[in-house]
Amino acid sequence: MEIKAPRGTHDVLPQESYKWHKVEEAVKGLCHDFGYQEIRTPVFEHTELFERGVGETTDVVQKEMYTFMDKGGRSITLRPEGTSPVVRSLVEHSLYAQALPAKLYYVTPCFRYEKPQAGRLRAFHQFGVEVFGAEDAALDAEVISLALELFRRLGVTGVELEINSIGCPTCRKAYNEKLKEFFKPHLGELCETCRQRYEKNPLRILDCKQQSCKDIYNSAPILLDNICPDCESHFNRLRSCLDAMGIPYTIDGTIVRGLDYYTKTVFEIVSKNIGAQGTVCGGGRYNGLVAELSGPEMPAVGFGLGIERLLLMLDNLNIDLGGQDVPDIYIGHIGEKADMFVQNLVLKLRREGVAVERDYMNRSVKAQMKYANKIGARYTVVLGDNEIEAGKAGLKNMETGDVTEVNLDALGNFFSSLEE
Ligand SMILES: [Zn+2]
Ligand SMILES: [Zn+2]
Repeated sequence: MEIKAPRGTHDVLPQESYKWHKVEEAVKGLCHDFGYQEIRTPVFEHTELFERGVGETTDVVQKEMYTFMDKGGRSITLRPEGTSPVVRSLVEHSLYAQALPAKLYYVTPCFRYEKPQAGRLRAFHQFGVEVFGAEDAALDAEVISLALELFRRLGVTGVELEINSIGCPTCRKAYNEKLKEFFKPHLGELCETCRQRYEKNPLRILDCKQQSCKDIYNSAPILLDNICPDCESHFNRLRSCLDAMGIPYTIDGTIVRGLDYYTKTVFEIVSKNIGAQGTVCGGGRYNGLVAELSGPEMPAVGFGLGIERLLLMLDNLNIDLGGQDVPDIYIGHIGEKADMFVQNLVLKLRREGVAVERDYMNRSVKAQMKYANKIGARYTVVLGDNEIEAGKAGLKNMETGDVTEVNLDALGNFFSSLEE
């Protein structure tokens, strides 16, 4: 029986991998300009990391994790999000004892057992940044501007920034009591998960995707109206910093994000070019997480951005990322002598950085040229006994059809001069 890829996974085929390269190059350049360094952590971690780091009452931990026992009897989980592993690594290697703020980024596969839909897969990739060691809202603004700059560099238009503050443990404690009061008369109408959340963490109810729960919490009191003076001045400074950079935003008091560890700033970048599910980037501040994972008290802020959703957006906007990589030259040949000459010439040119292709199918010259055309070679040349003896051949520009006579031992120079 034919084996197919599991549901919710996607093969990146050769005709689209160039798009990934373009996006990854843009990410690298961007993080370089903003002063962020890459961190790579393993694909799997101890399950407990996510239970503590993401929060036991979240949808991610309760419903969506790929968790299994390994052969040593340990509970292992495939990374469902990028932040907790980075914090685990920061604590384990005492990165917080080096120069602060520590500014990190990653592009990494993540795994969530969710209902697959357009741009939302079970095995997906996330670009994220995490900054540790500074409380200043200017850093929240920097992180937001970095995400927006990625969209700008890739030519993505029509994205909008929405910000909110979900306060600190102090103001949230009071707010949780308010929420409990609000939900109490509606307890019977909430879903089972939310009834548990009511006891453990009522704020999480505001994250439920069930319509019946949404109908209730839509009129719940808003946290932003109930934050403490410290959280309020932090939020005001974030707004001033965004204003100073000329970044427009709207304030949306309903953004609570899906993970437990957020404090103060939360934000989403939304787009109309992605279908019904509009969020293309989400993040915020998580001042409690480092200590929660056995590190020191340390403020932090970051975001995650789904690469597949970004690519879907680029497709929907018909953004041209420059096309597939094509060979600089296809070298055809006639006869045995030319065959061996080409064998050597191909390696010589490749060593000089020229992308070369040749025949391996014993095709006729006509069929070789047809193939060269199919793979999009920019130039072609055909070598036989005469050309090898003369040391010269006609190089054909496949776009214009022009033929230029070149010395065979100067082919490498020809292509390096094209690049200048
Ligand atoms: Zn507060
Ligand atoms: Zn619910």
